[in-house]
Amino acid sequence: MFRRAAINAAYGSAKSFFSSLKNYKDKKAKVEARGKKYKQRPPVPPREWNKNTVFYTGMIKSMDDDTVMLKLYTGKSWVWLKFRHTGRTFPDGWNVCSPQAIIYKNRLELHFPVEKNIKLIKIAKQLRQNPDLKVCAVDLNMDSNHAVCVILSSDGTQGKVKFIHGNKPLQARRKRLLGKIAVKRSQYNGILEEDDNIALWKKIRDIEDYESHRVSRRIVEFAIENNAAVIVFENLKNLKPAKGKYSKRSNTKRAYWLKGKIQNFTRYKALEHNILISLVSPRNTSRNCYYCVEQVFRYNDTPTGHTVGAPLFLCPNGHKGNADVNASWNIGKKFFLKHSKPGKKLPGVTVLQAANQAIEQPEHSNGPVALPDSSVGQYGPNEVAATPQMLRDTPTHGLA
Ligand SMILES: [Zn+2]
Repeated sequence: MFRRAAINAAYGSAKSFFSSLKNYKDKKAKVEARGKKYKQRPPVPPREWNKNTVFYTGMIKSMDDDTVMLKLYTGKSWVWLKFRHTGRTFPDGWNVCSPQAIIYKNRLELHFPVEKNIKLIKIAKQLRQNPDLKVCAVDLNMDSNHAVCVILSSDGTQGKVKFIHGNKPLQARRKRLLGKIAVKRSQYNGILEEDDNIALWKKIRDIEDYESHRVSRRIVEFAIENNAAVIVFENLKNLKPAKGKYSKRSNTKRAYWLKGKIQNFTRYKALEHNILISLVSPRNTSRNCYYCVEQVFRYNDTPTGHTVGAPLFLCPNGHKGNADVNASWNIGKKFFLKHSKPGKKLPGVTVLQAANQAIEQPEHSNGPVALPDSSVGQYGPNEVAATPQMLRDTPTHGLA
């Protein structure tokens, strides 16, 4: 059994290398056919690898809540040995596969992979079958909140809004830890001891893992509670490199990575509940008003001029509210517009489409504009001014 596992592992490793080599060659040929230079380096075969021992059927038996029997080699013969174990119970409805023995610190762990078959229906098909399909649109932030989630239907009906907080404390904590690492680095004059800073890096990774799991879990729970069939994110924009000290630059970079991590964790957590992930273009999601597509101004307390990154927004037509919530509505809208092609239009999507076409992206001056009367503050930061009914009923926007 073990010998066969080793052969399988070697075969798999080689196969994976040759397929990535083939991908590389294909991509290179494609780029060079366009007359450009391909700068990526070719993949290298694995120089060494470690595989964990798998206990197949016949090597493991009599597993109960406290003990398990494992067949082990003593150096002379094979014997069955009884081990005590602690661990969580297996989740219901999952198939338990053969465990792997993993050495972790000073103990041996048996890791059981679990698997489950799920039937997924393509988003386009789901939309055809269910015109009232709801999505959960998520705006992931680098500052203030981790995420703002909203529920949106294809006819523009707005559902609940949820803020997932905790990004600010994370940023502060991580920056402090990165600062410590920077100080240690300077003390060693760039030459590091073997295990220097290992504990600090581990702390940073642990905090990030914990937060990614927490945030992704909350997003999925919110989607389930509100019967959303799809979770919509924006494609991550290119990272703008930050200037300043090591701790600041590094902190921004890791905040950006965290967004990707949250997306990945959300993807697999959502799959278990038959919820799919869709990505839309990040273009203008924070820049335009959800209701009328005019360019918005952002402000802190009083709406005077535009402050970059401020929490509130106001558009020239008087729609106002939380800027991150506005971005989330826009992400949801983009999803429906993306899936509504001419000839195969979604029943309700015309409302969203009309709102988008009503205004042909006018040229804007950079200076502050005169604010309409309706902008007198009566909405909190978490509310938005217009209702979907307004969106449908306002003739000035060209909506029927
Ligand atoms: Zn507006």
